[in-house]
Amino acid sequence: MTLLFAPPTVSVPIAGAAERFPVRRVYCVGRNYVDHVREMREGDERDDPFFFQKPADAVIGDGTGVPYPPRTVDFQFEGELVVALGADGVDVPVTQALELVFGYAAGIDLTRRDRQRDCRERQISWEAGKAFDFSAPCGPITPSESAGDLAMAELRLAVNGEVRQHTPLSLMIWNVAEIIAHLSTDYRLRAGDLIYTGTPAGVDALAPGDVVRAEVSGLAPLSVTIVENGSHHDAK
Ligand code: MN
Repeated sequence: MTLLFAPPTVSVPIAGAAERFPVRRVYCVGRNYVDHVREMREGDERDDPFFFQKPADAVIGDGTGVPYPPRTVDFQFEGELVVALGADGVDVPVTQALELVFGYAAGIDLTRRDRQRDCRERQISWEAGKAFDFSAPCGPITPSESAGDLAMAELRLAVNGEVRQHTPLSLMIWNVAEIIAHLSTDYRLRAGDLIYTGTPAGVDALAPGDVVRAEVSGLAPLSVTIVENGSHHDAK
């Protein structure tokens, strides 16, 4: 069988390795830090986690220019820990969930906040606010055996050198094992899946020229630059 054309494989570098990590799906956790739930004034802190997806080809790497997206005036950063799965699983018990993890990365869940709020008010899907082109910057993936103890790690996001988000990962409402276990009851998890694990308080708007840097202690950092909107047609 011959394909009419070959779709590109999206991949992310692996820190310290020649191979790249091929991306299959991108899952995101909706609310996973109490301080962010409070700043958004939505939901209940004890709600079950909920998930949404971004298209795999929304993933972009460290050092990339991110075109300011069309049809928004409130384009926001959300610094997040990203979990990269290296094995498959369905209905995975919490106690075995970390066995699926290949490694971790610093990521940014870029959000058209005005579009997201509009979707919520109209009670329609969040898609326009979350699942757009270039919306999933992901740093190099650090294999879990090299990542150290993430329970002790901290997440930081800085814009133009100024720290805007800072939290211990221990403040996640649902930890990585619990997220994987929950998600695996809804979907067949597969090697190549990325999971953005939610953002803490401090989310805010970006403008062209801004340099956004996300860091998780023990992991390779991620830095992207917001560039003018006009380039979104052909940038990469
Ligand atoms: Mn998020």
